[in-house]
Amino acid sequence: MTGTYVYYYDIAALAVTSVTLLSIVLRRVIRGPANRVFFSAVILVLLTTLAGLGCELYDEFLGPFLAEHRLMDPAYPHVARSAMQLVYFLLRSLNAPAYLVLISAFSGTSHRLNKNLATQLALWVPMVAVDLIILTNPVHHLIYSIQDDVMQRGPFIWVIYASALYYTLVGIWWLVRWKPVMDEDEFSTLMLMYPLVLLSVVIQYFYMNLRVEMFFTSVGLMLVSAFVIRPEKQLDSLVSASSLQAYREACSRAFITQKPLCLVYLELVNIEKLRELVGKEELQGIVVGVSADLSRRLQRGDVMYYLRNGLFCIQPNNIDADRAYGITLQMHEEGKARALAENNRGAIVRLRSCVVRVPEDVSSYEELRTFVRRFEHLVPDSDVTTFAALSRQDDFALNMALPSIVERAIRERSFEVYYQPIYCVADGRFHSAEALVRLHDPDFGWISPALFIPEAEQSGAIIEIGSILQEQICAFLGGAGKQARGLDYVEVNLSVDQCIRPQMAGELLELMHRHGVEPSRVNLEITETSSAFSQQIIDRNVRILSAEGVTFSLDDYGTGYSNVTRILDLPVSIVKFDKSFVDDMDSEATRVVLERSIDMMHQIGKKVLVEGIETKAQSDALCAMGVDYIQGYHYARPMPPDEFLAFLER
Ligand code: C2E
Ligand code: CA
Ligand code: CA
Repeated sequence: MTGTYVYYYDIAALAVTSVTLLSIVLRRVIRGPANRVFFSAVILVLLTTLAGLGCELYDEFLGPFLAEHRLMDPAYPHVARSAMQLVYFLLRSLNAPAYLVLISAFSGTSHRLNKNLATQLALWVPMVAVDLIILTNPVHHLIYSIQDDVMQRGPFIWVIYASALYYTLVGIWWLVRWKPVMDEDEFSTLMLMYPLVLLSVVIQYFYMNLRVEMFFTSVGLMLVSAFVIRPEKQLDSLVSASSLQAYREACSRAFITQKPLCLVYLELVNIEKLRELVGKEELQGIVVGVSADLSRRLQRGDVMYYLRNGLFCIQPNNIDADRAYGITLQMHEEGKARALAENNRGAIVRLRSCVVRVPEDVSSYEELRTFVRRFEHLVPDSDVTTFAALSRQDDFALNMALPSIVERAIRERSFEVYYQPIYCVADGRFHSAEALVRLHDPDFGWISPALFIPEAEQSGAIIEIGSILQEQICAFLGGAGKQARGLDYVEVNLSVDQCIRPQMAGELLELMHRHGVEPSRVNLEITETSSAFSQQIIDRNVRILSAEGVTFSLDDYGTGYSNVTRILDLPVSIVKFDKSFVDDMDSEATRVVLERSIDMMHQIGKKVLVEGIETKAQSDALCAMGVDYIQGYHYARPMPPDEFLAFLER
């Protein structure tokens, strides 16, 4: 039976779906595989609604009108009406399977739908079968027939419901199965569609006049568009690439769902140098330029992510590693020329890149994360390489293992402190020593701090390592080292990250107090930092400690940042000249620079220490230049505490 105004609900559905469509177009979230599927689903719902509305309007207006004016060909009654009904049923039967495809696209599990033939058959045969029955309805009228101007349900109408139920159950199962790869909002919003539609089907089954199915569906889709599709989550605001969060999601999902991946990482090697050279704004321009250049070379279906400070990742469509490799190779060659042309300041954009394949190269998301975090240490500058090639290199395993090595050493507190005596030129004695960390790993043996300290600085583990070492050093100074012959103080290395902790000074003072160590027996080696903000905290820490009697050295003078004047304002008593100074002391120029620098330091009241002295000739030359302290293998190597005490006795 037809009633009046049944079409109102479909008009509402039309409005809601149009709003959804408009919103995704305005928010520009129609690119990318998942978004494209969503777009298609919205269009499908729109067409289904239109077909349904067509039937209703026919029943309401056109049918009666035609009948009244006897305009219908009596030989073919209701052909148009019947065809419209067929289109409606056909489109309607596609809704549930389409929603399943949508779920798989949003959860990044599309590849699982096509896993094998059995899955494919189970998924698509019911849909095709139902569609065939609907298409052949004009012959057998098993689904519906039009009698007396009214659509009558046929004996096989249940097939349509059965199919919808089937896809609903599969969809719910799919959502539950892959819940771990979805976030809460995503899961619950996608799930909500099912009770909504179920409710509408029940209503409509019993009250044919309440044609609410498409209305409920359209509301469900609108919720999906509001809560599942979030462009800010997907797009990096600076460069037009997908965001770090989107990358993380895609990668971690791929491991859980065993999806093969090809990832090409591309990093601007010298981004810090470029920043110094051209400034922050122009650097941003360069990054955006590189990103635009990259995306020009991409094909439909490729995804480009921007991960951090100059690090891009491309995920080529169809895991086409060779093509991706080709793109980066081109970038390497052309990048230099382009950057030069763009800003005539001689800024060359240097790149490093690496192709990674999952699961061939990397077996867990953790491993991939470690690789990406240590990218700059693992991939050589100005090189295009593959993970497979890198992993054949000797120190690769060690480099990859560093985070876990450090973690383990912290857990087991297996760091040791060695002491390297420092020679005082004035009286030919050893009044001090530098405390240097040593680490022996059960699997990898002795590991140089030059390797694991930078890693610990990057991961933040340096804070914990620092306090473990300070504890040991204070225990030594308050214990066996208390009466050590002639030992005035020990030089302790501090990383920048340690110095910029506001609580650093207080903690150290407390530690010294607990072990009964006079603050004057500790000298802290600090280095220059680039940030003015952290400089303030460092200043404060230094002044607090200095007031208590702790002294300071400026480490690694002659490397890194050139602006040391700021730190020289601080109460730094010793400036440590880096080993690189002495390394080419044969050159006349270096000797002059060295001599002048030593003079300059003396003039502003600083003592000078030179590191890395390995020969008598070097030592003699430096003594002649008026250096105050010398540290190096020529006098003594770093040694364990007991050996150090014995050394002092001699
Ligand atoms: P650094 O502070 O410049 O330390 C001096 C480095 O030069 C030490 O390397 C020392 O063993 C080495 N050295 C001393 N004399 C000679 C020499 O005559 N010839 C040569 N070729 N090398 C010499 P080490 O112990 O491998 O430490 C490397 C770096 O690790 C240190 O450089 C420092 O930056 C960092 N580090 C070491 N211990 C600590 C620590 O306890 N805390 C922190 N934050 N960093 C540390
Ligand atoms: Ca040092
Ligand atoms: Ca040094």
